[in-house]
Amino acid sequence: MFIKLYGTRGSIAVSNKATQKYGGNTTCLYVESRAGDAVVIDAGTGIRQVGDYLLKSKIKKISLIFTHYHWDHIQGIPMFIPIFLKKSVLNIYGHKKEASAKKALSYQMTKPYWPVTMADLPSKIVYKSLKKKFKIGSLKIETIINNHPNYTLGIKLTEGKNSVAFLTDNELFAEQTHTPYRKFVNFVKKTKLLIHDAQYTNNVYKSKKGYGHSTYTQVMKLVQDAKIKNIVFTHHDPSSSDISINTILKKMRRKYPKYNIKAAAEGMTFTFK
Ligand SMILES: [Zn+2]
Ligand SMILES: [Zn+2]
Repeated sequence: MFIKLYGTRGSIAVSNKATQKYGGNTTCLYVESRAGDAVVIDAGTGIRQVGDYLLKSKIKKISLIFTHYHWDHIQGIPMFIPIFLKKSVLNIYGHKKEASAKKALSYQMTKPYWPVTMADLPSKIVYKSLKKKFKIGSLKIETIINNHPNYTLGIKLTEGKNSVAFLTDNELFAEQTHTPYRKFVNFVKKTKLLIHDAQYTNNVYKSKKGYGHSTYTQVMKLVQDAKIKNIVFTHHDPSSSDISINTILKKMRRKYPKYNIKAAAEGMTFTFK
């Protein structure tokens, strides 16, 4: 299983000198199975570059999974080139609570917001509901309900002995919970890599409770309780600069020396054989 991060920012895309190291595009993760199944999770602005890669690699069959339909997870779709190509086949997986993926994407791509509607697209689009467990080629996929305003799912991908969990937009210790903390511990246990929302510092979190995001410290508790070695913090706050993220990383690595701690950066890759 190969993973590449294309969008690591939360809430809104940013572009300035202070965010070049970790990147300014909103959430998008690309996964390729050993057999070559192409899976994209979330369509933040980072998906534009996934489109370029798929085109270059002549990959026509794409599975697109949505964790939820907040802007920062769907906004790249109108600029995702494969949807404009007749030869593309897109299987779109999304939950149907509040709205289906079809409805959420159609609302976004409609006049006057965009000149081309979803119905105008020449590519073959098949909508599939996001179940608790399903398979895409050699990838086994499991979901869990995150603690986030509006229905949101966390994803675990397994191929052979390797599992990777991607939990973005998740408040681990929310007062209003869909999922109690211990269930997250079980869900991510034995994963080789956990990519988790860590939008806030402890200080910022005090005024952001209920927003549906976690702190670095909370994520490190999960990492310890689930006995995970490799952790990547993601969904960086738009106001977090490279320098502030570096400072947090340094602090976390000093405090938790046994763990391999990283902050999600655009272009970062992971390979599991
Ligand atoms: Zn988000
Ligand atoms: Zn969200």
